[in-house]
Amino acid sequence: MNNKPAILLIYTGGTIGMVKDFKTGALRAFNFNQLVERIPELHLLDCAIETYSFDVPIDSSDMQPDLWVQMASIVEDNYDRFDGFVILHGSDTMSYSASALSFMLENVHKPVILTGSQLPIGDLRTDAKENLITAIQIAALQENNTPVIQEVCLYFEYKLYRGNRTSKVSAELFNAFTSPNVPHLAESGVNLRINHSLLLQKPLSLPLTVHKKMSRNVMILRLFPGIQQQVLEAILAIPNLEGIILETYGSGNAPTEPWFLETLRCATQKGLKVINVTQCSSGSVMMGKYETSTELKEIGVISGKDITTEAAITKLMFLLAQPDIVDFKLAFETPICGEMEV
Ligand code: ASP
Repeated sequence: MNNKPAILLIYTGGTIGMVKDFKTGALRAFNFNQLVERIPELHLLDCAIETYSFDVPIDSSDMQPDLWVQMASIVEDNYDRFDGFVILHGSDTMSYSASALSFMLENVHKPVILTGSQLPIGDLRTDAKENLITAIQIAALQENNTPVIQEVCLYFEYKLYRGNRTSKVSAELFNAFTSPNVPHLAESGVNLRINHSLLLQKPLSLPLTVHKKMSRNVMILRLFPGIQQQVLEAILAIPNLEGIILETYGSGNAPTEPWFLETLRCATQKGLKVINVTQCSSGSVMMGKYETSTELKEIGVISGKDITTEAAITKLMFLLAQPDIVDFKLAFETPICGEMEV
């Protein structure tokens, strides 16, 4: 009998599997089987790996909610046959996908680890091999026949992060991701160090429930000094707009000019969900701390607390598609799977 952990390696695209087009010099996706051939080390891992490739691998700049549904469905369809899932994904939108999947895969008890690379796998100085091999090793970790990691994570450059806490912060460095408000869950050095106290654990009795609807009637508005009334009005007049992530200053502060607050008030009264997320790369929204955010609280703006913009927009898309939410503000301000402080 084969007791090796079974891992499903899902290839969606991204630099990791790209080659240079000699005519244009641009990177483009190529055949996944060739990718596996380029890493003979995969055969040395103490797990049974099967692969699944998107028919048309994409640069992750083309990521769409439909493709999140496809990824979630692949995990769902193969959930009983595999002990863990590694998703190869372009780094550009990896934090969005990791966040979206964390909400869509409710009660996941097996590791779903997204990884990719800054350089293609065939490049001499590639970071792809380490990222891929260690992500698979982490996905295969078990204690008492139970997966150690039971959530959606992102592995990059020696660190395992909670997926919905990450942001891509560098287009240049191998160390491209950060998790500003929650420490990494594991670090790979000479040994693999797992920070067990940070890992999410849900009762095994709760079954995996896969949510496949995401609203696209959303948008992100980043405030800047000098923003004009007509800009805000035009955005809030977008037909069918249901929710907006408002990227504010510091601990959730915004202009106090009457036109700004009145325009927002009208929108929230008509049912638009407005989520306050800070532009700062770390820290939390605290509406009411300064006068410049007191009014936002009064007009029903929802606190994103210390959530990232990537997790905020995907949580908004997710919650707006849930049919039975009575108190949307409460639902948004309540953590679902570690994406915000309690
Ligand atoms: N443009 C690429 C992508 O996100 C970058 C990468 O994979 O790192 O698909």
